[in-house]
Amino acid sequence: MSRGDDEGRSPFERMTTHMDDADLVCPDCGYEDEEGSWTAETNGDTVLYRHLCPSCGSVRKRTFELGDE
Ligand SMILES: [Zn+2]
Repeated sequence: MSRGDDEGRSPFERMTTHMDDADLVCPDCGYEDEEGSWTAETNGDTVLYRHLCPSCGSVRKRTFELGDE
């Protein structure tokens, strides 16, 4: 009676994992931050993602609304 690993993970964790794989190429200088990742903060309603480019220092931000289904 074991469930899949995804059953125990929150939507927040799943989104963070997803973001780790996505879009690590800086749009300003074209540097691909293979070692880097987006950091995520949440206040309960919204998740704020940030990525700092180690090459040019550009900070990108994205926000996602968390649905409360
Ligand atoms: Zn850059």
